[in-house]
Amino acid sequence: MTVDHHFRLFFLLLSLLLHALPTWAGARVVDAVEMAQEPLSLTAQVGVLQDPSRALTVQAVSTAEMTRQFQYGLASGASFALGFTRSAYWFRLDIGNSGDEPVQRLLVVSNPRISQVDAYVPDGQGGYAVWRTGADRPQTSKAYDNRNFVFPLQLAAHSQQAVYLRVESSIGLLVPLQLWSVEVFHAHERNDYMARSGYVGIAVAMILFNLMLFIALRDRIYLLYVCFVLGTVGCVTIKNGMAPDWLLFGLPLNSNVAYYASASLALSALMLFMRRMLQTEVTLPRGDRLLRGMILFFLASPVVFALALPQVSRYAILLFLLAAVVMIGVGVACALQRQRSAYFFLAAFGLLILGGASTTLRALGVLPTNMFTEDGLQLGSSLEMLLLAFALADRINVMRQEKLQAQAQLLQAQNQLVESLQRSERELERRVAQRTEELQVLNQRLETLSMTDALTGIANRRQFDELLALECKRAARHAAPLGLAIMDVDWFKPYNDRYGHPAGDACLRQIAQALVTALGRPTDVIARYGGEEFVLLAPMSDLDDTCAIAQRLLEAVRSLQLAHADSPFGEVTLSIGVAALLAGEQQAQALMQRADAALYRAKQSGRNRVEG
Ligand code: GH3
Ligand code: MG
Ligand code: MG
Repeated sequence: MTVDHHFRLFFLLLSLLLHALPTWAGARVVDAVEMAQEPLSLTAQVGVLQDPSRALTVQAVSTAEMTRQFQYGLASGASFALGFTRSAYWFRLDIGNSGDEPVQRLLVVSNPRISQVDAYVPDGQGGYAVWRTGADRPQTSKAYDNRNFVFPLQLAAHSQQAVYLRVESSIGLLVPLQLWSVEVFHAHERNDYMARSGYVGIAVAMILFNLMLFIALRDRIYLLYVCFVLGTVGCVTIKNGMAPDWLLFGLPLNSNVAYYASASLALSALMLFMRRMLQTEVTLPRGDRLLRGMILFFLASPVVFALALPQVSRYAILLFLLAAVVMIGVGVACALQRQRSAYFFLAAFGLLILGGASTTLRALGVLPTNMFTEDGLQLGSSLEMLLLAFALADRINVMRQEKLQAQAQLLQAQNQLVESLQRSERELERRVAQRTEELQVLNQRLETLSMTDALTGIANRRQFDELLALECKRAARHAAPLGLAIMDVDWFKPYNDRYGHPAGDACLRQIAQALVTALGRPTDVIARYGGEEFVLLAPMSDLDDTCAIAQRLLEAVRSLQLAHADSPFGEVTLSIGVAALLAGEQQAQALMQRADAALYRAKQSGRNRVEG
């Protein structure tokens, strides 16, 4: 056995002894030599002391009295999960170097979100080298420039020292403590930054691509997506301790306030995005109202965070959880309505939650540390971004299909319209034809009515006047003869008086019928001139011919043998005056006057005769 081995054995025995002593209850000494490659989780080795007053100094906690109050074995996982507390916590690490060479180790607090992290490392002269850093302090306060809080420990050969850490936080206090060898930590740093920058790279690509889509398509949903990714990447970057020190209105911006505010803004953007994507205003009005309320609330919340983050941070976490539950609820409700986008949304959101949960559960020691659990949130967030971008692409597809469908429906409706228009046009044409026909018939009837006598059905005076004028002109042009006879029923007033007016009407109808029937030539016309007077127009007939026709008409009526008790002849008779157009004469009036005069003579000469 070498001296070294002896020393180690002694060191081990000493540790065991110290462990057994009541004053050192639970205290464990870490031998820096024993770990070289893998980082060593220190949660099992360090003692914890709660300081609700936040007033204890390193001198106070390092007294023998206080040393006894440190508790050991509180955490089983990789971190101390101390929750939302206003207390400060002290950690005591007893670390020794059993080797013959001095070694350097790095004490790493791998949670960049702790507001204050103070390290007290013995300076070898009875005092302490002090670093006061943390999320609430500028980056320059760090002992070692890393996104986490890293403190170098110089360990002389065969030495032992007690290192103190003091932490307090405005948000949930999660303290992972590790001891790293310098070389291994440097190798780890490279991979660690690669993973962060890979995530930021994905986010930047998504932001630029969707910004271009927004410019090209003018659909606000892409802008909402960009806002969501911006908020998320901002939140994750701050969470990872990669954000620079920001100034707001010339004042340093508290990075935990920025962390919570960016989470709120990312959530708001995600909810706005969700509303538009799932069209909740139409598909889920109540869920939509809830979302709108939460969006307003989260948009306003940064002001509250800026004013009182330590007081509200624990409730904010509950509200973030509530928002997640509401979003899942809305997603499920829309998925139940068979909205395609909802499936994507649920899958994307599920992956984010899975990632977040795995990171949290790893920190609490429930899940082992590996590639997936370590960067779970980041991985989940990247997958969420990608899936939502894919959902946007799918949405274009769905919208295109809907558009095609709508176009097809429109076309069909148009065709139906055209068809029905054509049908009604045909129907209209048919009706117009029918009406025209009816009108023609009516017109004809009207014409006949206006040209015929209502009582007897033969030509009336109007028709006769027209015919007379026409025939007069024609006769004059052709120097042809034209005969005219006026016929008046004899003693017709007494007939009416004796037999009644209806009988008189019937008598007139019989006379008219007899006169028309007695006509020989188709060109001869009989008309009722008025009352019990009839006229005969006989083209191409001279006075003698017309007298002959008149005689025949006289006989025709007489042969009806219509009884007339008040007539000296005992039956209904006619008196007829005949006239014919003289050569060169054109005036129908003169012709009528001569016929009338002849009629007067017939009456005077005893009636029942023809006078020409
Ligand atoms: P005359 O001509 O032989 O001198 O004697 P008259 O009795 O026929 O005399 P007048 O010509 O003055 O009388 C015509 C009568 O004809 C008068 C009227 O009662 C009758 N009359 C006229 N139009 C109609 C008619 O449409 N229906 C009937 N029933 N009677 C009519
Ligand atoms: Mg008369
Ligand atoms: Mg008469």
